[in-house]
Amino acid sequence: MGSLRTQVGIIGAGPAGLMLGHLLHLNGIDSVIVENRSREYVIDRVRAGVLEQGTVDLLHAMGVAGNLQREGLRHDGLYISFQGQRHHINLTELTGGRAITVYGQNEVVKDLIDARVATSRPLYFEAEHVSVGALDSSSPVIRFRHGDVDHDLRCDVIAGCDGFHGVCRPSIPAGVLSMYERTYPFGWLGILAEAAPSSDELVYTLHERGFALFSMRSPKITRLYLQVPPDEPIEKWPDDAIWEEMRTRMTTRDGWTPTVGRIIQKGVTPMRSFVAAPMRYGRLFLAGDSAHIVPPTGAKGLNLAASDVLVLASALKAFYEGGRTERLDEYSDICLRRVWKAQRFSWWMTSTLHRAPEETAFDHQRQIADLDYLTSSRAAMTSLAEQYVGLPAEVSFASAGLPS
Ligand SMILES: Cc1cc2nc3c(=O)[nH]c(=O)nc-3n(C[C@H](O)[C@H](O)[C@H](O)COP(=O)(O)OP(=O)(O)OC[C@H]3O[C@@H](n4cnc5c(N)ncnc54)[C@H](O)[C@@H]3O)c2cc1C
Repeated sequence: MGSLRTQVGIIGAGPAGLMLGHLLHLNGIDSVIVENRSREYVIDRVRAGVLEQGTVDLLHAMGVAGNLQREGLRHDGLYISFQGQRHHINLTELTGGRAITVYGQNEVVKDLIDARVATSRPLYFEAEHVSVGALDSSSPVIRFRHGDVDHDLRCDVIAGCDGFHGVCRPSIPAGVLSMYERTYPFGWLGILAEAAPSSDELVYTLHERGFALFSMRSPKITRLYLQVPPDEPIEKWPDDAIWEEMRTRMTTRDGWTPTVGRIIQKGVTPMRSFVAAPMRYGRLFLAGDSAHIVPPTGAKGLNLAASDVLVLASALKAFYEGGRTERLDEYSDICLRRVWKAQRFSWWMTSTLHRAPEETAFDHQRQIADLDYLTSSRAAMTSLAEQYVGLPAEVSFASAGLPS
């Protein structure tokens, strides 16, 4: 049995856990990160790709944005397409210079793992039997097995950054958390393809046959999505059928269409909105997907993970520097205000751009009117733009020990 001690024990080496570990490092706060998957698995997992302006600024301020600076694709706008026509929304002009950046989550994770390794602070991959205990004491514990050794890791605080299927949230006693959930009657079939993007910006499409999204990961790789039933077997979709459906839904009257290429990855993801509140129990703090899930339409999941850990790092800095606990006490309320606004936005994008099975002709006409209003009103476009590039965080970079 190995007995370890740290200030902050972090479960999960996804974006939330790795960013928190680095923010704490920059403030001289010790942490140990415990991850149950291998390094390769964590890096290869294809997921988010849209970074809000605030997330990009945060990665820069943390000093981990070298590759992002070189390889990230800054987008000043996006397209909304319906009834065979694309409509441009200029995010940058509408938000006083802000933008989004396309940079794969796996690249973000790779950069953060490299940064962690360079600090020589502990990061255990392939940890087994991970569990947490003594959460309502001042010395909570993370137990795990690594190699052939069982470890007892005593901490001041545990950060549950272990995603939706992790162990932290289920370890909170029954009755403490309120759960808010909505599942959607559709999922996304996503592909990565070796095809040069035929648009420089994302194209969100509502078609009679359902939603489609055109996006990209690099100047040579496109990332495309189709609305399908939530339990759709991927085997039902040979590559030719995927391309035919993509082109049917996305091609516009002016002839714009996605470029076809070799599909190198494909899968179906169900869609869900979920919030657990409060995001804290005793000395356990939940951050990122362990506390909330958004449907990917608004591109908010990774960005919420980043804003949660900024708030947590700022509160932990106050705790370690002056023994102040008020900021930790405010953590959940501060995060949840931003989380619920992102939930509302993601729900609105999802319900406006997808066709639900129970939908009536009235509902569809209302969706068209919604999109017609959106793309013809500067006020409506501004509202979308400020939410899409990301609402401001409530805590400053300086409060987390970063340059402003
Ligand atoms: C297909 C898809 C597309 C998406 N697109 C977007 C997008 O465009 N924009 C966007 O912002 N978001 C998007 N998201 C959401 C985004 O990927 C997540 O919100 C983000 O990964 C959350 O980061 P996290 O660190 O909180 O959780 P995770 O990335 O899930 O990380 C949690 C980590 O904890 C580990 N873990 C789990 N259980 C344990 C355990 N018992 N012990 C130790 N470790 C454990 C996991 O292996 C994982 O490494 C998408 C998600 C999916 C699935």
